Amino acid sequence: PFFFNDTATTEIYTLSLHDALPISARGGKNVQYMVETKNLRKVYRTGDEKVVALDNIDLTIEQGQVCCILGTSGSGKSTLLNQLAGLEKPTRGTVKIKGELISKMSEKQLAVFRQKHIGFVFQSYNLIQGMTAVENVAMPLMFRRVSRKKREEAAREMLKQVGLGERMDHRPNEMSGGQQQRVGIARAFVTNPEVVFADEPTGNLDTKTTKEVMEMFLRFAREKGTTIILVTHDRSLAEYCDRIVTISDGRIISNEDHRHAKAIQDPPAAPAEELPEKLHFTDNTLAAGQGGV
Ligand code: ADP
Ligand code: MG
Repeated sequence: PFFFNDTATTEIYTLSLHDALPISARGGKNVQYMVETKNLRKVYRTGDEKVVALDNIDLTIEQGQVCCILGTSGSGKSTLLNQLAGLEKPTRGTVKIKGELISKMSEKQLAVFRQKHIGFVFQSYNLIQGMTAVENVAMPLMFRRVSRKKREEAAREMLKQVGLGERMDHRPNEMSGGQQQRVGIARAFVTNPEVVFADEPTGNLDTKTTKEVMEMFLRFAREKGTTIILVTHDRSLAEYCDRIVTISDGRIISNEDHRHAKAIQDPPAAPAEELPEKLHFTDNTLAAGQGGV
C-alpha cells in the first residue's frame, strides 16, 4: 500500500507482517547492560585500500542511560552506531543488546529484533515524503499487528506530546526542519522501544531549534526510561548526557560518567536560611581553613 522511496527508512522499518511479533512477546530477560561490545573492530576495504574504522571497542551502556558518542568527522561515530544497532556486521568482536548477541543474528532476525526493541532518529529525518505526519509516526506500528485505528490514535497522541497537535495532517515538505525532527522523534518512540539510536539528530538544525529538539528528545527518554545512544560532533549536546564516550580514529579515548560530573558542578541547593551559622562560608573563614565542618 505504501511506496517507500527512502532506503535507510525502508531497510529499518519495512518488514512483512508475517515477521512481526506482538509487543507482548518482548523478552523479560534480566540483563545488566542494555548494550555491550567486546573487542569490536570494523575494517572497510575499497579496492586495495583498508580503513580501520573501529578498533578494539569495549563499551557497556546501562539501561536507561543517555550516552553520547562524541568525536570529530571521520572518527568512526556512525560506524560504531551502525554496529551497535545491528545495521552493519562487525569485522571482529561482538555486540549484545539486552544480552542478545546481535552481531551474530541473521538479517531477518535482526529486522525483527530492531522492530521489537529499537528506535531510530536520523540527521535528515528520513520521513516518507508522500505521507502525513500521522502516517509517518504510525508506520512502525504497522509491523506489530496494531489495528489501523489504534495506530492512528497512538500516532496522534505522540504528535501531541511533541507539540505538533496542529500539524498532524501536514506532509514533511510543509514543515520546518525542527518540526520534521519532532515527527522523527515521535516515530522513534511510538513503539515504546527500549533503546533509541540517534546519529547527529540535530545536525541540520539551528542552535535554538537544536536546544528545543534535544530537550524534548531527552524528556521522552527520561519519562519512559529509554536508553539513548546519541552520536554527535557537537560538544554542547554532550552536556545533556549521562555518559560521554569520546572516540578518535576508531578508538575510545575517554569514557566519562557525566552524571557524576554534573552532580559536582551543580550540587543540590539547600535553602540558605536553613543552614546553620557555621556553614556560611566567607572568603576569610575558607582562607583560614575554618570551613566550619
Ligand atoms: P563519523 O561518523 O565519525 O564522521 P564514520 O564512521 O562515517 O565517521 O567513518 C569512519 C571512517 O570509516 C572514515 O575514515 C570513513 O571514510 C570510513 N568509512 C565509513 N564508512 C565506510 C564505507 N562504507 N566504506 C569505506 N569506508 C568507510
Ligand atoms: Mg557520521
